[in-house]
Amino acid sequence: MKTPQGIRFFVFKENMKERKTDAGPIRDILAKSLTLEVLGMDEVSRLIELKDIGLWEEVFETARLLKEKVYGNRIVLFAPLYLSNECVNNCVYCGFRGGNKKARRKTLTVDESVQEAGLLSDRGYRRLLLVVSEHPGSAGIDYVENVVDSIYKNTDIRIQHINSAPMGVEDFKRLKACGVGVYQCFQETYHIPTYMKMHPSGPKADYQWRLGVMDRAIEGGFEDVGMGVLLGLHDWQWEVRALIAHSNRLITKYGFGPHTLSVPRLQPAEGAGVNNEKYRVSDSDFKKIVAIYRLALPYVGVVVSTREPSGLRDELFSIGVSQVSAGSRTSPWGYVEDRDTAQFEVGDKRNLEEIMGKIASLGLVPSLCTACYREGRSGEKFRLLAQKQSIRDFCQENALLSLKEYIEDHASCSVSRQLIQRLKHESAKSRNGFSEKFRLIEQGKRDIHI
Ligand code: SF4
Repeated sequence: MKTPQGIRFFVFKENMKERKTDAGPIRDILAKSLTLEVLGMDEVSRLIELKDIGLWEEVFETARLLKEKVYGNRIVLFAPLYLSNECVNNCVYCGFRGGNKKARRKTLTVDESVQEAGLLSDRGYRRLLLVVSEHPGSAGIDYVENVVDSIYKNTDIRIQHINSAPMGVEDFKRLKACGVGVYQCFQETYHIPTYMKMHPSGPKADYQWRLGVMDRAIEGGFEDVGMGVLLGLHDWQWEVRALIAHSNRLITKYGFGPHTLSVPRLQPAEGAGVNNEKYRVSDSDFKKIVAIYRLALPYVGVVVSTREPSGLRDELFSIGVSQVSAGSRTSPWGYVEDRDTAQFEVGDKRNLEEIMGKIASLGLVPSLCTACYREGRSGEKFRLLAQKQSIRDFCQENALLSLKEYIEDHASCSVSRQLIQRLKHESAKSRNGFSEKFRLIEQGKRDIHI
């Protein structure tokens, strides 16, 4: 199959050879990651092929240190907002696929999307990920523009990202102009035969159109793009290499790579028609994948959704994850009423407050901050700041300000004491005084950030 210009990364062998573990080269790779250098493909392969359990503990610890070095000890929280489940595609793993005749279909009206976003902002969320299935008739670019604009105008949501089907450059320009922060789209699988099998009909059956989407998004003005593979469709080792190779190619071409890498793992969905036991990713491999993404692309945000169970997510906080969704519903109108056709089953059912409390109890800082997007710290600028470890400093202060706001406006008694303790502990470490800024927040000023 011909590939889009310049994309030549899916030529790996199906069965990669196992190498004898030698601790020296692995430790050299870990040391290189700690200098915030992007890893080469051979180094990525060495990590993927690593079998030694003791050395894996060193890898996890390095991933934790690296995340701390770049981002500090904060974990960023957001909620997905599903706008539509009408879909012209037929992805066999998805409950929204057109062929699922049992699905109750809905596309939120603009007013309904504002209602759902308002409900989320009343709970304390400030960052949303809009999720739109592919249906040009009911959820095209005009609709998305209206939704984004209305949510900004009518709620306290401060940044909206979007996960949507690939589009052309002109539509990306419109999406960027209306204030979307990150454009996210997962390749699902880079393995062409698997891709063809999983996407039998609809525009998504066009592998190349999807593969070139990040180039078009960047050409359309997006410096922040989010990428990922749906783990469980094909051999994870092969997919992880392909995704990192794709990311490295963007870095070479544009000077920056993905802003985030997500780790969606195949979950059951009502009406879905796939059970890929052969490629099921175990929890222990899942943790390795998170650590490998962190080490391979040190400045990248690693995102874990509520697909994963709470215990595993709690563990991942300490091995490189920097962003998590919380309290998610995966169907349109799912926050206002629990609807029955979800895109996939949610594993972590805790609400925002419970997850914030858990993060605080682990000695980390739950953050609802959105400052970087609005201050233009994105793309290459973000990467340069991250390399100088300045993102950590900006973020730590902004994270604490967002936490203070949350405590003032949303935290219930059950979690408030824990969050206040965390806030006191962290702000005492800061060189910049917080007392004046905290006083302003107590007096009702909002959205204070640097
Ligand atoms: S994965 Fe996306 S494109 Fe595929 S059927 Fe589901 S909603 Fe549609």
